Amino acid sequence: MSNPDVLVIGGGLHGLSAALHLARRGRRVRVLEKEVAGAHASGFSAGGVRTLGRHPAEVPLALAALDLWHGIAALVGENCGFQATGQIKVAEDAAELAVLERRVAGMRAQGHAHEELIGPEALRRWLPALAPHCVGGILCRRDGFAEPYRTTLAFRRAALALAAEVVEGARVTALERHGGLWHLRCADGARHAAPVLVNAAGAWAGRVARAAGEDIPLGFNAFMMMLTAPMAPFVAPVVGATGRPISFKQSASGQVMIGGGHKGVADLSTGRVTLDVERLAFSARTALELFPILAETRMVHAWAGIEGVLPDDIPVIGRSAVAEGLVHAFGFCGHGFAIAPLIGGIVADLVVSGGTSHPIAAFAPDRFGRAAAEAGAALPQPAG
Ligand SMILES: Cc1cc2nc3c(=O)[nH]c(=O)nc-3n(C[C@H](O)[C@H](O)[C@H](O)COP(=O)(O)OP(=O)(O)OC[C@H]3O[C@@H](n4cnc5c(N)ncnc54)[C@H](O)[C@@H]3O)c2cc1C
Repeated sequence: MSNPDVLVIGGGLHGLSAALHLARRGRRVRVLEKEVAGAHASGFSAGGVRTLGRHPAEVPLALAALDLWHGIAALVGENCGFQATGQIKVAEDAAELAVLERRVAGMRAQGHAHEELIGPEALRRWLPALAPHCVGGILCRRDGFAEPYRTTLAFRRAALALAAEVVEGARVTALERHGGLWHLRCADGARHAAPVLVNAAGAWAGRVARAAGEDIPLGFNAFMMMLTAPMAPFVAPVVGATGRPISFKQSASGQVMIGGGHKGVADLSTGRVTLDVERLAFSARTALELFPILAETRMVHAWAGIEGVLPDDIPVIGRSAVAEGLVHAFGFCGHGFAIAPLIGGIVADLVVSGGTSHPIAAFAPDRFGRAAAEAGAALPQPAG
């Protein structure tokens, strides 16, 4: 391919979804990934496909994305291991149940009926192994989970099949705009140019934005997960709690995956993460209190992935407020897997027609203030 129409920085699920949707609309796309596709958050995700408990601004996107998940093979040629097992948020006492009742009422008032309040009997039917102190919950029947790395590779494969390019080992180190094009330079000296740039660089996207002249307050976290040895099947839906951070699912292998927001330590310059064992132990105790049957197993693996986060806990999706021909899609705050099939389509809308019919005003890049940075700055290089 000579110069493509669109360059995408980041070969995670969001960069690849953008590439696929752009290629479906006839755009020539090149994805530049500093390592390999799925090397960061997308490859380490828990794969939860959740409309339950979303930030109100994300609810319409999560619902539209869920429809795509239910027909995901039509988009990427395989089902990505998606199973509509349902997701349940459990109330452990009356006060938590009241919180859930208010949440469901609030959703109804906004016209959303996907969150369903359930009492103790229904809860017991859905989750027979749940500890007896739990008193009710919210059920989202159409939610579920998929296999994150398989999904990332499926999007990559589908984009390649439509002649998109995915260049791995291509670390973008500098970018500037002149002559109506973005000019990118990579660590190996390669140069790329295109009229449009998509910033899908995950936890590193704040650096890309700054190099393009835009200051966006992106932070990062190392979200941690644990995996048990295989157990006989005892829980089908994905389970979360109301008053403490936990997310819980059993995969087809019988292994139980436990996460929910506990964080380790990440180093953005090296891309390395360090687990916080005490917080993992806290997570394990919570899981055990909700599902006492876990006393019969042991942890066999734990990991963490680096994810971009924003102060209001929702992503940046939209055209740059300061730079021409730049579209951002990053900072998914630990819940971007579920909406990735849709967000790529929104990015394609923004590139192709400059707008989208989906409600994305809440995700505007300049919602924290319009802060111009010095354009043309080099991206920080990895240490060592
Ligand atoms: C442990 C964990 C569990 C999670 N569980 C869930 C869940 O259950 N449900 C859910 O919805 N979400 C979940 N998430 C969140 C979800 O996985 C992420 O929101 C999503 O994968 C983000 O995708 P991304 O493409 O934006 O980022 P990434 O996958 O991180 O991709 C960004 C890519 O950009 C590349 N890059 C950065 N800078 C450059 C550069 N200068 N040049 C070239 N390439 C560059 C990086 O190498 C990286 O591969 C979880 C995340 C983690 C870490």
